[in-house]
Amino acid sequence: MDKLTNTFDFNTYGKKVFDFIDKYFKSIEGYPVIAQVNPGDIAKQLPAQPPLAPDSMEDILRDFEDIIIPGITHWNHPMFMAMFNSTSTGPGILAEALTAALNANGFLWMGSPSLTELENVVLKWFGMLVGVPGDYFGIIYDSASTSTMHAIAAARELVLNKYDFKHEGFPSGTNLKLRIYCSEFAHSSVDKGAMVLGVGLNNVIKIKTDKNLSMIPDELEKAIKQDREKGYVPFCVVATAGTTSFTSIDPIDAIGSICSSENIWLHIDGAYGGSSAILEEMKYIFKGIEKADSVVINPHKWFFNPTDISLFYTKKPEVLKDAFSIVPEYLKTNNEEAVNLMDYGFQLGRRFRALKLWFTIRYYGVENLKGIIREHISLAKMFEKLIVDSNEFELIAPVPFSTVCFRYNPGNMNEEQLNSINKKIMDNLNKSGKIYLSHTKLKEKYVIRLVVAGFYQKQEHIMKAWKLIKETVSNL
Ligand SMILES: *Cc1c(COP(=O)(O)O)cnc(C)c1O
Repeated sequence: MDKLTNTFDFNTYGKKVFDFIDKYFKSIEGYPVIAQVNPGDIAKQLPAQPPLAPDSMEDILRDFEDIIIPGITHWNHPMFMAMFNSTSTGPGILAEALTAALNANGFLWMGSPSLTELENVVLKWFGMLVGVPGDYFGIIYDSASTSTMHAIAAARELVLNKYDFKHEGFPSGTNLKLRIYCSEFAHSSVDKGAMVLGVGLNNVIKIKTDKNLSMIPDELEKAIKQDREKGYVPFCVVATAGTTSFTSIDPIDAIGSICSSENIWLHIDGAYGGSSAILEEMKYIFKGIEKADSVVINPHKWFFNPTDISLFYTKKPEVLKDAFSIVPEYLKTNNEEAVNLMDYGFQLGRRFRALKLWFTIRYYGVENLKGIIREHISLAKMFEKLIVDSNEFELIAPVPFSTVCFRYNPGNMNEEQLNSINKKIMDNLNKSGKIYLSHTKLKEKYVIRLVVAGFYQKQEHIMKAWKLIKETVSNL
């Protein structure tokens, strides 16, 4: 029983955990990037039944190292160049420990005034850094998928408000069909939002892109006009600043003008690319942002915060509130002037996520954070040049951020052979445990992506990647 009556020994076990973390980061390059295990390998080492009697913390920590760690793919590893990196750093890790310790739940301002107020302050800071207009309301959700779902819900509330959608649901007796527009390269979270909000996948209209893989505003305008003629109700456009596959940038300014004149909600998805607007030379990606009704940026992608944290901004918080606010008696409080974050989203309970972003910005300082992002962009340019200068490889898309899309193409293979050899190159690289790359498809072309957005990535890692890629090709 004394485990229940004694206070937990943070000195001993906290030291063990932080010793592990310290050693982990110092030796991270010794780990295989991708977990070298097969499905089920981890689970079969764990007992099927939970322990009835207490285990010692020594045993738990030993199993963590012996069983769990081998099944971890190391997102912090500097050779993790797949998908979009998510790296955690010291200040964010400490803040996560404090968040868990305080265990503050921020659905009401009263639930912990510091949670709501710090969230508001860091959202303002970050918004200022990347150019979100100062009067936008901000809130933190867990992921960009959640943020975009809230944008679509707010857009739906705005267009269906006259039917009292909130109480009546979709109007019966009308043949109402809502439509969302996004680029053919928009993230699948737009589709998911449409699925869960009753819009339907077939009503997510994918707009054609130009040679830079950016949405063509004229095509958007045409699609909206045609849909209106057919009786559809266009209600939301999602423009992406940094698409997931190719990091292409939709022209927000031109799209925003169309949305303003058509009276359609414009949401900007800057999940990955948005953080780079902290740099003067990248501010152009958000040109026209003031025409947007909402914006999402993920600091857990390219701003070195532990997963998860997604920043959502909107010009129309009252619409978001209309869409989500419902206050039962047991949640009523006396602080009428306070913002209660539960009114601006689907979830009630919410973690103190702002703390890690606050720690990160303060500990590194804005100038250093800019420097890191600027270096990532220049390392990607360096890799792009290696690809372009090589006559064995082909650049597949422009490189506006820090992601390079390329393929092996020695010039004597047909498309089918190219697809199969590029898949083989990537699979062999990933199996080696030395690097993690991911792929996408452009039209029918198999494309390899290399992403430089991890906190610990330096020039030597990009050179190592290039060497590994060339070795793999010559071993085929
Ligand atoms: C990663 C990504 C998302 C989804 O982000 P989550 O936080 O994982 O939901 C959405 N949009 C874009 C452009 C992305 O790259």
